Amino acid sequence: MIAEIICVGTELLLGDILNTNAQYLSARLADLGVSLYYQTVVGDNEDRLIQTINNAKERSDLIILSGGLGPTSDDITKETVAKALNLPLSLNDDQAKKLEQFFLYRNIPMANNNLKQAFMPDGAIILDNNNGTAAGILIESSRKIFIILPGPPNELVPMFEESVVPYLRRNSNDCIVSRTLKLIGIGESSAAELVQSIIDKQTNPSIAPYAKLSEVHFRITARSTSIEQAQHLITATEVEMRKQLDKYIYTTEEKELEEIIVEILSKNNNTIAIAESCTGGLLSSTLINCSGVSEVFKEGLITYSNESKVRELGVDKNVIDLYGAVSKQVVEQMAIGIKNRAKTDIGIAISGIAGPTGGTEEKPVGLVYIAITYKNETFIKKLQLSGNRMKIRTSAAKQGLVFLYQVLKESDDL
Ligand code: ATP
Ligand code: MG
Repeated sequence: MIAEIICVGTELLLGDILNTNAQYLSARLADLGVSLYYQTVVGDNEDRLIQTINNAKERSDLIILSGGLGPTSDDITKETVAKALNLPLSLNDDQAKKLEQFFLYRNIPMANNNLKQAFMPDGAIILDNNNGTAAGILIESSRKIFIILPGPPNELVPMFEESVVPYLRRNSNDCIVSRTLKLIGIGESSAAELVQSIIDKQTNPSIAPYAKLSEVHFRITARSTSIEQAQHLITATEVEMRKQLDKYIYTTEEKELEEIIVEILSKNNNTIAIAESCTGGLLSSTLINCSGVSEVFKEGLITYSNESKVRELGVDKNVIDLYGAVSKQVVEQMAIGIKNRAKTDIGIAISGIAGPTGGTEEKPVGLVYIAITYKNETFIKKLQLSGNRMKIRTSAAKQGLVFLYQVLKESDDL
C-alpha cells in the first residue's frame, strides 16, 4: 500500500505554523509498515486542492488529508474531496445531533455555519472526534482510501490512534513490529560501520540508523503474520547486533536517557544535586521532566558568575583566578561544593564557553567541562562542542546525562 499525505492550509504555506501533522503521520505510517512516497502542502484553494487530489489518486492507494474540516468558509477540504470524487454531500442526522449536543453541553449557542460540519459525502465512514466538532471522514472509492482528519494536532492525533490505526491494521494481513536500540558514547558512522554487514544482509527485519542529539538509534522493524513471530525475528537480529554494540546500548525501551537515569538513581536510592553555569539549568530541567524525580533530585543551582560559584558552592576564588571559571579545577570544586551543600550522593557541575563571544585560542567557544562526584571520587570530562550558543548549551546538558550514565555504569550501579 502506497500512502500520500496532503496537508491543507494557507497558514502552512506562509510559515505561520509548523507542519507537525505531516511529521507525526509520517512517523506513524512508518511504524505501521505503510510506504509513504509523497507529502504535499496546499493552500485553502479549491482548484489547487483538486489538482493535488487528482495527482494523489493516480499514484497512491491511501491518501491522508489534514486540515480544513472546520465550520468556516475557508475550510474546504471535505467539499473539495467530495467534488473530486464526484460524491454528493448530504446532511447526516447523527452528526447534526452530536453537534447540537456538543454546543448544548458547553452552553454556547451553535452558529448556523456549524451545521456545515454535519454534511458528509455519500458512503463515507465517520470517524468520531472526542476533542472537537469536526468529525473525520474515511472514503473508500475506486480501490483507493481517502482519510480526512482535522487540522488541530490535539484532534488529529487521538483520531488517528483511535480510528485510523485499527482500520489500517484490519486492512493488512501483516503485523509490523519495531524495536529501537538506543546507543550513547559512539557516533553514527562508527556505530553503523560495526553492524554494516548485518544491515546489508537484512531485509526482514530491516534496520535503520538514526542520529539523535548525542545518541545513535537503530530501529529494527519486522513484518510477519503474527506479533510473536515478528518479535522473534527482531530478537534474533538484536542478539546479532549486540555482539558489536552491546556496551553502547542503554535501552531498547520507549524511554529517554533521562528517564532511564532517574530509574537507576531511584532503584539505588541515590540522590543528586546539580550546579550549572553555561547550561543555565537545562540539565536540571531535563531530569525534572521525568516523573519520579522528586525521590532523587534535591537541588539545582545556576551559578553563573564567579562570585556565585564562590559564595554558593565554596569554590576557591584563587583557583578561579589561576585557572579560569571554565577549567577542570573549577568544575571539580563546583561538583564537590553542590554535593556537600545538598548532602546528596552525587554532585554534577557543568561549566563552559557557549559563545559566540568569549572564546580564546587556549579556551575556544564550545569548550565545556563536566564533573561528577560520586562515592568519594570525582570524574571529569573535557568536551569541545560546536554550533551556535543554544546548540552548545543543549549538547553540553545532554553530555552531562551521557556522562552520568557512564559513571553509574562504571560503578556497576545499573
Ligand atoms: P478548525 O475547526 O480548528 O478550523 P480545521 O480542521 O479546519 O480545524 P485548519 O483550519 O486547517 O483545521 O487548522 C486549524 C489549526 O490546526 C491551525 O491553526 C493550526 O494551529 C493547526 N494545524 C492545522 N494544520 C496543521 C498541521 N499540518 N500541522 C500542525 N498543526 C496544524
Ligand atoms: Mg479551519
